[in-house]
Amino acid sequence: MTTISTNKRQKILKELDKYKSTDFDFASGHILGSMCCQPHPLAKEAYINFLETNLGDPELFSGTKKLESHLIEFFLSFLHAPPTAEGIIVSGGTEGNITAMWLAKQLTHKKEVILPESAHFSFSKIASLMDLHLVEVPLTDSYTTDLSKVEEKISKKTAAVIGIAGSTELGTIDPLPELSNLCADEHLFLHVDAAFGGFVIPFLQKLGYLVPNFDFLLPGIHTISVDAHKMGYSAIPLGALLVREGDWFDQISVDSPYISAEKHTGLLGTRSGGPVAAAYAVTQYLGIEGYTKVVQHCMEVTKYTSQRIQELGLNLVLEPTMNVLGVKLHKLSEIVEILASKGWKVNKMARLSSMRIVCMPQITKHIIDEFIPVLEKTCREVGEL
Ligand SMILES: *Cc1c(COP(=O)(O)O)cnc(C)c1O
Repeated sequence: MTTISTNKRQKILKELDKYKSTDFDFASGHILGSMCCQPHPLAKEAYINFLETNLGDPELFSGTKKLESHLIEFFLSFLHAPPTAEGIIVSGGTEGNITAMWLAKQLTHKKEVILPESAHFSFSKIASLMDLHLVEVPLTDSYTTDLSKVEEKISKKTAAVIGIAGSTELGTIDPLPELSNLCADEHLFLHVDAAFGGFVIPFLQKLGYLVPNFDFLLPGIHTISVDAHKMGYSAIPLGALLVREGDWFDQISVDSPYISAEKHTGLLGTRSGGPVAAAYAVTQYLGIEGYTKVVQHCMEVTKYTSQRIQELGLNLVLEPTMNVLGVKLHKLSEIVEILASKGWKVNKMARLSSMRIVCMPQITKHIIDEFIPVLEKTCREVGEL
């Protein structure tokens, strides 16, 4: 049993606090640009209880492994997956996308990935890692992938087509039903990146918003990645990759002679069961009803924020599809920097000459009321207004 000396403990914890004190924190409400959030309180409790578990060694942690399979079942039913479908838990959208492209490469033996300009930068890593070639498609006026351009780019070399369900910059949703039909006709592998939108779109639909479907109900979709550490209200790192045919995982499985399981699937080895327990706890606690309320709150705050920002005389890049706002700014860098020095953190999107505000669950109208005068003053200081 390890005993900890009180003096040393206090000294070290104090040192840790010193580092943490220069971080922004979600509880302050001042992080306005991030797609992550303060985890649900239950996530924290569950995470700590599973701190020592290792899902890389499922025989030792058979209970945690079972818990993980229940979490995967949740994702599959949530995304209307057919009985043949399976999933794996990953660290987030990046690993989800990497694993999906690994599958596409193994299944097709081809090298080109067709994706919209709005795709997440993880695809640049993928191209470099797997020697794949990215074929970028320009966006339409609504900042979604241009279908006719996708069609033009399809060739004998196409390994996969990517659709985005909730883009990182603006929260836009590609025309996935049409993309699904196109890929089904052309027998192409279609991966949907729903890292952010996966925990938003189903609830927008419940609330009566007209947003396209993005899940396995669309027959052309092969794989979907979703993050629980973004709008799933859970703790980092937790994402899932769901695949229409579980057999496909054979393509990315290796023999694992010196651990209990014979086969090992996916990228990581040793990995914590903590985030899995956290995500399971939150999904069970909130359920569909709870998440719908969370999204309803986020959308109310988004509308309020959008209205207050436009009242200042600033313009949005486009009407928000979900709880992600792009605000056009000429003096972008200066404004983002000054806001940070005043304790407010928004994200800079140089490509769109705009700042990103994401109305995550912890953001309230009250916080926006505090932020707007600071934004206005900053804009006046630099001559934006
Ligand atoms: C955040 C995001 C990713 C990357 O996910 P991580 O969890 O940061 O690895 C990928 N795709 C989209 C659309 C995202 O919003």
